[in-house]
Amino acid sequence: KKYLDESSERKRLYNEVIELKGNIRVFCRCRPLNQVEISNGSSSVVEFDSSQDAELQIISSDSSKKQFKFDHVFRPEDGQDVVFARTKPIVTSVLDGYNVCIFAYGQTGTGKTFTMEGTPENRGVNYRTLEELFRVAGERGGVMKYELFVSMMEVYNEKIRDLLGESSNQPTKRLDIKQAADGTQEVPGVVEASVYSTEEVWELLKSGNRVRSVGATNANEMSSRSHCLLRVTVTGTNLINGQKTRSHLWLVDLAGSERVGKIEVEGERLKESQFINKSLSALGDVISALASKTSHIPYRNSKLTHMLQSSLGGDCKTVMFVQISPSSADLGETLCSLNFASRVRGIESGPARKQV
Ligand code: ADP
Repeated sequence: KKYLDESSERKRLYNEVIELKGNIRVFCRCRPLNQVEISNGSSSVVEFDSSQDAELQIISSDSSKKQFKFDHVFRPEDGQDVVFARTKPIVTSVLDGYNVCIFAYGQTGTGKTFTMEGTPENRGVNYRTLEELFRVAGERGGVMKYELFVSMMEVYNEKIRDLLGESSNQPTKRLDIKQAADGTQEVPGVVEASVYSTEEVWELLKSGNRVRSVGATNANEMSSRSHCLLRVTVTGTNLINGQKTRSHLWLVDLAGSERVGKIEVEGERLKESQFINKSLSALGDVISALASKTSHIPYRNSKLTHMLQSSLGGDCKTVMFVQISPSSADLGETLCSLNFASRVRGIESGPARKQV
């Protein structure tokens, strides 16, 4: 009884916040300048306002400034714990039956994988989320029985591959999207590994990553040209009233958003770039249609958005991390990413406010 009261109170408070702010959050994260940039003499073009944690300004080469506003801006000195603290309430709502999507968007080298996966010393959102889900599930053990399943897929050139489907020396299984009887989108045949601990998930991710890079000239190349999707399916049974829930949490490391130089663009690379552009702009279109509450949402324009259809929109929750580099050398790409993110969020960006 106490649990049910608390749970409905939490939902009520959460819904109040949602009504005020909507279901879509756009967070910007700027990585630090790296050693190479520092020794090249690159400077930072990003300015943060000490009294404002939702705005940043970009200083262009002609010294003009452009201001961007998001739901939150993470600075170079903000660690993985700071980032997770803001993400935690959203990801854990999958235990209350909500579908959730978290995306990392940006140019290659801006920290998408760092934010999502992190490193063994500096774990990212994926690991911390699983740790938290197991912790909360354990805490609610007397009232709720939860089961967690993990799937890992890759979308490359509009084809979906199962990264947990086969061993690293086998070609990986191709998957497709089907509509289930209840109207939701499913990926039939995808491996759903039942998991009981964060360590187990970490091992699965390692084996999935090995499969991912097979066939690529180098592992880094492949990971920047394809979308990597980790899906956590949560089933919950309320031991008091028997009510069941099933929901998905998608943790998505998107392909690099950079425009490829004209000279490089031919053959396979051209095709890859077109597929990446198509799916990233389809994702932008879907989220901005949802944010502006348009009636037609163009889910079908890419495999990525089609696959995520049942987890985007309605009362589903979405977080987009827009990753940027502070370096003057990346100014053009940084502006492209920030403009994309502003469009997605439906927030106008504009010239910087006058400093007073
Ligand atoms: P992407 O996935 O966007 O290509 P990576 O996550 O591989 O980028 O990041 C590129 C490099 O920058 C990596 O060596 C990563 O560890 C480092 N890095 C990225 N973001 C941060 C950060 N916020 N703090 C410290 N190092 C970072």
